[in-house]
Amino acid sequence: MKIQYLFFAILSGALSILVDASSSFAADTPVKIGVLAHREESLKLWSPTAEYLTHAIPGYKFVIEPYDNASIGPAVERGEVDFVLTNPGSYVELETKYGVTRMLTLRNRRQGNAYTVFGAVIFTRAARADIQQLTDLKGKSFMAVDKNAFGGFLMGWREFKDQGIDPFRDFSELKFVGLPQDPIVTAVRDGKIDAGMVRTDTLERMAMDGKINLADFRILNPQQTAGFPFALSTRLYPEWPFSRVRTTPDGLAQKVAIALLSLPPDSAAAKASRSAGWTVPLDYNSVHELYKTLQVGPYQDYGKASLADILRQYWRWLALMAVMIVLMLINTAYILKLNRHLKKSQKQLIEITHQLENSNKQLEKLSLLDGLTGIANHRHFQDLLNKEWRWAQRHGTPLTLLMLDIDFFKKFNDSAGHPAGDECLKKVARALYDLARRPRDLVARYGGEEFTVVLPGTDTAGAVAVAERMRAAVEKLAIPNKGLPGETSVTVSIGVASAGKSRHATPTEIIAAADKALYEAKETGRNCVRVAASD
Ligand code: GH3
Ligand code: MG
Ligand code: MG
Repeated sequence: MKIQYLFFAILSGALSILVDASSSFAADTPVKIGVLAHREESLKLWSPTAEYLTHAIPGYKFVIEPYDNASIGPAVERGEVDFVLTNPGSYVELETKYGVTRMLTLRNRRQGNAYTVFGAVIFTRAARADIQQLTDLKGKSFMAVDKNAFGGFLMGWREFKDQGIDPFRDFSELKFVGLPQDPIVTAVRDGKIDAGMVRTDTLERMAMDGKINLADFRILNPQQTAGFPFALSTRLYPEWPFSRVRTTPDGLAQKVAIALLSLPPDSAAAKASRSAGWTVPLDYNSVHELYKTLQVGPYQDYGKASLADILRQYWRWLALMAVMIVLMLINTAYILKLNRHLKKSQKQLIEITHQLENSNKQLEKLSLLDGLTGIANHRHFQDLLNKEWRWAQRHGTPLTLLMLDIDFFKKFNDSAGHPAGDECLKKVARALYDLARRPRDLVARYGGEEFTVVLPGTDTAGAVAVAERMRAAVEKLAIPNKGLPGETSVTVSIGVASAGKSRHATPTEIIAAADKALYEAKETGRNCVRVAASD
C-alpha cells in the first residue's frame, strides 16, 4: 500500500509539474489587444480586462497595446494585434479598410446604469437669448474636440449639415481644443466661446462633481429618447465595439467572446473600464452613414466620381466626342486648305482680269470704230466696201465712193495746235455723218484728216450731190483756219469714183480712182468736188 501511495504521489507530482510547465509555456504566447487611448489611460482602464481574459482562457496571455488614431490602422494592417478596442468611428474605418469585425459592444456605465449607445450634446449659455436653435449659431464661435473626433465633433457636424449649416464656413470661429472635454464646457459657461459640443453625459458628470451648474446651459436641438436620460442634441450611435482582425483564429475569437459576455458587471475588470461589461454587437451602419454623409474618413471620396469612374461610365460618349472632334479638325483643315486654294484662285482671277482688260484695249484698237471721232475706222470701211462691192456685183446695182481730205490742215494744226486740230476733225466727222442718211451709207475716217463715204445703190450723179452737200456743210461749220491769210475757214476737197458701168473695177481700183479725183480737186483750187475720169 505504501508503495502504491508513493507511486501515486510521484505520478501526481510529475503530472502537476507537467501541467505547470505546459501552462507556463502557453502563458508566454501573447495575444495583443490594440486599444485607442493614451498609454497610461489604456493600461489603467483595460489591463484588468486583459488579466481577466488571461485567467479565463488557459494557454494565452492577453496584453494591452495602446495606439493613437494615426498608428492603429497600420498596426492592424501589419498584423501586430489580434483584437481591437476602439471608438465606433475608428472601428468603421478599420472595418472598411482592413476587414476588422466587431464581436461585442461595450455596456458603458454612466451614473450607475449601463448604456450601449451614446451621442453628443451641443450647448450654449442659458443667458444667450439670441441662440435658441442650431441655425442661430451661424456667425457665432464654436468649440469642439477635434476635426476627426467621432463624439467630439463629427456627430454634431452631421446635425449641422442636416440643417444646412457648414461649420467650416458659417461659424465666425471654429476652435478644436483636443481632449479632455471639460474645458469646452467651462469655456462656454465663462463666455469665452458662444457654443460648444461634447459627448453625452459629460455635462451631467461635471454637474455631479460640482464643477458646473446645469441651469447655466441651454441644450440646442434637444432630443428625447426613451431609456436615455442624458442631454442629447444628435442621433444616438452604438458604443465602443470589441473586434477581431482577419487573421485571428475563430476558436480564440469564440473563447474571447464567451469570456467577455460572461464578465460580471460588478467585476474588477468591468469596474476598471467604467463599464458594465459587454453585450452582443450592435448595428454600426449608423456610423457608416455618418461618414458617408460627411464624406470623411473611409468615405472621403464617397459619391465623388473618380476619373476612372467617369471613363468607365461615359466611354462611349467620350469616344464619340473624340471622333467628332477629330472629324471637326479634319473638316477645319479641309476648309483652311480650300480657303488657301480660293485665295490663290482669286489672285489668278485678278491677274486674268488684268490680262483680259489689256486684251480688250487691244481689241478696241482693232474694233470697228475710230477712237477720236467715233465714226467707222479704216478697217470697218475696208470690210464694208468689200461686202457692198460684192453685193453690187451680184445685184447689178451702183456703188459710189467719196474720198475727202481737209484743205490746208497742216497749217490749221500748226496755228491752232494739235488738240484744236482733233476737235476740228470731230466736228467735220459729225457733219459728214449727219449727211449720210441712207441706212447702208457709211462715213469712215480713212486716216489722218482724210475721210471716205461709201454710198451703196447710189450712182455718180447722186453721189456728187451728196458730196456737194458735205462740202457745203463743212464750209458752213465756219471753223477758222488761222494758218491761212484772210478770214478763211476749214474746207474739204472731195473725189468721187463709182464701180463703173462695166462694174469690173475692184475696191482697190475704186479707191485709187477716187483718190485721183481728190488730187484733181486739190489741184483745181480745193473746197470742191471732182469726179473720176473713168465715170
Ligand atoms: P492739203 O491737203 O490741202 O494739200 O494740205 P494739208 O495741210 O491738209 O496737207 P496734208 O494732207 O499733207 O496734211 C495732213 C495734215 O493733217 C498733217 C497733220 O498735221 C494733219 N493731221 C493728220 N491726222 C491728224 C489728226 O489725227 N489730228 C490732227 N490734229 N491733225 C492731223
Ligand atoms: Mg491729207
Ligand atoms: Mg489735207
